[in-house]
Amino acid sequence: MRKELVVITGASSGIGAATARLFSSLGHPLLLLARRIEKLNALALPNAICAQVDIKDASAVEKAITGAVEKYGPVGCLVNNAGEMFLDFFGNQSNKEWEGMIQTNILGTFNTVHAVVNSMKDQKTGTIINISSIAGHKSINTASVYCATKHAINAFSETLRAELAEHNVRVITISPGGVKTDLHTHMENKEIMQGYAEWIKNIQLLSPDELADMIVYSYKLPQHICLRQIIIAPTTQAV
Ligand code: NDP
Repeated sequence: MRKELVVITGASSGIGAATARLFSSLGHPLLLLARRIEKLNALALPNAICAQVDIKDASAVEKAITGAVEKYGPVGCLVNNAGEMFLDFFGNQSNKEWEGMIQTNILGTFNTVHAVVNSMKDQKTGTIINISSIAGHKSINTASVYCATKHAINAFSETLRAELAEHNVRVITISPGGVKTDLHTHMENKEIMQGYAEWIKNIQLLSPDELADMIVYSYKLPQHICLRQIIIAPTTQAV
């Protein structure tokens, strides 16, 4: 049987790249989105369209998805994984950082969902997996904007889930704790970045592959089962 098209945002590294590899190993055609096209291409996965797309750009998202649907058929699963985390005390944080997080983590997710949701409704099937964070359930010092974006994703997902229930479309939210990726390496405040790096040294972080397993597991459940929320964190992470 032909496997469904899976769209993964932020597939150029970390959790997204691991998820792309796992879905590919199961025979799914893929649309992989990120800004660093060379990293997408380096995955060298079969039946995968790599598109250099900034998910803040709604028309670029729409165009990439339309192209993949023409080639591989309707989107069966959308994994909204792309995200940015810049930590700082709010009073010190630059507009560039907080606007970037809002635009990518929230508006980017709206852009991709908007590009697939009506087709999923028409087909009476589909799965949307939104990668939130433990920061979407807690307040974390120096993470006010990041926490706000992930709380927003949880609220959006829960409302969307209820809206799509009658159409047999699943919305699943996965909220990881610490995962061993580059997520924390791009922030402007190097002292906070160093503090974060020290903190995670004492934690046995999850691997991107372990997150990919969780994402694929929730997708592979029969369509009538919706694993609404998963919070998954290292056992040694107290927060
Ligand atoms: P990475 O930094 O490895 O991956 C982030 C991905 O998002 C990259 O592929 C990046 O690609 C992509 N991305 C960022 N901004 C954009 C954009 N505007 N348009 C398109 N793609 C974008 O980190 P992770 O794998 O850890 O992060 C994946 C998700 O997991 C994020 O949503 C993060 O918030 C969440 N998460 C991670 C945790 C952790 O401890 N690592 C904990 C909790 C949640 P590129 O730069 O090429 O565009």
